[in-house]
Order: sequence, then C-alpha cells, then structure tokens
Amino acid sequence: MKLLEGKVALITGAARGIGKSIAVKFAQEGADIAFTDLNRDENMEATEKELEALGVKAKGYASNAADFAQTEEVVGKIKEDFGHIDILVNNAGITKDGLMMRMSEAQWDAVIAVNLKSAFNFIHAVLPIMMRQRQGSIINMASVVGVHGNAGQSNYAASKAGLIALAKSIAQEVGSRGIRANAIAPGFIETAMTAALPDDVRKEWALKIPLRRAGQVEDIANVATFLASDMSSYISGQVIQVDGGMNM
Ligand code: NAD
Repeated sequence: MKLLEGKVALITGAARGIGKSIAVKFAQEGADIAFTDLNRDENMEATEKELEALGVKAKGYASNAADFAQTEEVVGKIKEDFGHIDILVNNAGITKDGLMMRMSEAQWDAVIAVNLKSAFNFIHAVLPIMMRQRQGSIINMASVVGVHGNAGQSNYAASKAGLIALAKSIAQEVGSRGIRANAIAPGFIETAMTAALPDDVRKEWALKIPLRRAGQVEDIANVATFLASDMSSYISGQVIQVDGGMNM
C-alpha cells in the first residue's frame, strides 16, 4: 500500500519548484492532486500531464493565493471536483528583498500577502472540510529565515515566522478533530527562487551548510510526504528544518 493512497492533496504555487516536486512525490505515493498557481500557463499544463502520467487524478487551478475571495471559490471547485481534501500544503511564496531602511510599503505588503495571508485564506477555506472529515494534515512552507531572521529579508522572515506560529496555533485549535498542522523550514534549495540570487550571495549560503551541498526539491518533498502521511500521525505543531545542518 502506498503512503497516500486514497488521499486528496491541495498544494498552492505548485506549477514549478518545491511545490511541483511535492505534487510529484505525493502522486507517486498514490494521492490525487489539486494544485494552484497564478496562471494557467505551460508550467501548469506540463505539471498536470506529469502527474496524470503517474496514474492519479490531477488538476491545476489558476488562482491568486493572496486573494481571499478567489481562494474560497477555488477551494469550493476543488471540493466539487475531488470530493474531499485531506492534505493542504501552503507552498506559494515570493521574495522582495531589501534592507529595512530602503524597503517600500509595497514590498512589505506583497510578501506578507502572498506568503502569510495566503495560508490564512486556504486554511480558513479548507478547515470546515477537514473538520467534517475529522482528519487532515496541513503543512506550511516556512524557511530557516523564519526561525533565525536574515538581514535584507525582514518582510520574508516575518512572513515565514508567521507561517510557523500559524501552524502551531492551528495545531492547538483543531487537534481534537484529528487535524494536524506543521511547518517545514527549508534552507538553501536549488530552484528558480534561489537561481535568481547573485553569485556572491549563493557562495555565502553554501559556506554555512555542513553537508556541503545545496538542498534539492526532493529533500523537501520527502519530508512533506512524511508529514502528510500517517507515518507522522503523532506529530503536530512542529517546525522541521530541512537545511543540511545550516549554521545561520
Ligand atoms: P518558485 O518561485 O520556484 O515557486 C513558487 C511558485 O509559487 C511559482 O510557481 C509561483 O508562480 C507561485 N506563486 C507565486 N505567487 C503566487 C500567488 N500569489 N498565488 C499562487 N501561486 C503563486 O519558489 P520555490 O523555491 O519552489 O519556493 C516554494 C516555497 O518554498 C516558497 O514558499 C518559498 O518561500 C519556500 N522556500 C524556498 C526556499 C528555497 O531555497 N528555494 C527556501 C526556503 C523556503
């Protein structure tokens, strides 16, 4: 029996990167996959095809995770299309880095909306479904930066710390209904997000990693699969750092 057989997973921002890798791993473990991203583009279509080729039901939905009304609508559609939602991964995220003295209000607001408010939007819409089912696993994609802070990323760090506290609070609110909530805090993972960093910044990060390699998307997908599955049925309200032992 596969680890996620019979489960439906909803993953936000999963047309590429870490979210896509989680979708693929979940599908390999037998879950049907509903995923969102900003647009119905070639990435979304390719991800949908790749997932279907793994023999599961898979559908991508264009939806801005930062938008409350759009989220309510898309979760309603997913419930109709898939019947139930057992796993929610709040993965959509962006960076808009800058030192506080130079950070604009727009930079602050955008990162908090996409990274943190989105998780409120999705948890708020999905919880009633999970409560009726009396089971569910919620995973917030945080960051080591949300645990340790990082100069030049105060907006991002605050949003990721918020995702950790949100998971811990939800774990306490709905644990009695059989619903678990946890956070993953990735370190430096090779994706489009980190490829965009200047070389000197990438080198500086590499020096902080005792395992002497950057993380791969599969490193995160493996932990997400563990947290989504019954293998972790007694783990809730935790944040798991997946960072090669990084010294921040
Ligand atoms: P990525 O940029 O490759 O992928 C992010 C995806 O989210 C994209 O497909 C993007 O279109 C989508 N997205 C952005 N805004 C959205 C919105 N408003 N609504 C819906 N979808 C939206 O990034 P990634 O590296 O795969 O990161 C995934 C998550 O992991 C993010 O939350 C990120 O903060 C977190 N993370 C990444 C790293 C890393 O090193 N890459 C480290 C720690 C945490």
